[in-house]
Amino acid sequence: MELVEVGLRDAALLLDLLNTTPVVEGRQRDILADGAQASTWLREHGATEAELAELVEARNVLQAVVRGAESAAALEPHLNEVGLRARATTGGVRWELDIDDARRSAVRAILAWDALRVVSPGRLRACGNPDCRLFLIDRSKPNTARWCSMATCGNRMKARRHHQRARTAKTDEQS
Ligand SMILES: [Zn+2]
Repeated sequence: MELVEVGLRDAALLLDLLNTTPVVEGRQRDILADGAQASTWLREHGATEAELAELVEARNVLQAVVRGAESAAALEPHLNEVGLRARATTGGVRWELDIDDARRSAVRAILAWDALRVVSPGRLRACGNPDCRLFLIDRSKPNTARWCSMATCGNRMKARRHHQRARTAKTDEQS
């Protein structure tokens, strides 16, 4: 049985978590390793300081899984004793995560990764710019988006290809 409903709500959290290690001025940074930035990130995502360590570890594994460097089985330690509890509401049954608070956001991100894998296979991927460490969820119909953002990486890669073509053409003229 695959449970996607619980995870799909957290696609934005997952993508934001994957994108906490951007390259800035040629160097890879870790937003979650910087005290003040980490606190802001946690607050903006409804998480507490107690969740930071587990979020960082789950993020590192998720990044490797999305890049194809690790199999999803590497997520197993992060899913220990994760349960779902059924709750009766006035309108029906609602499923809630049964997990201690320090691991809640990390588990939500992992379930979001899995839900995307089931519902939108192949649409969560690393940016096509090799110098960029960001990820994207391709929502376009043809599923051909390659860049985390057209404004930054898309234009940069286009300019680079143009430059390479121009250089190749020049070498051809000379030979
Ligand atoms: Zn990018």
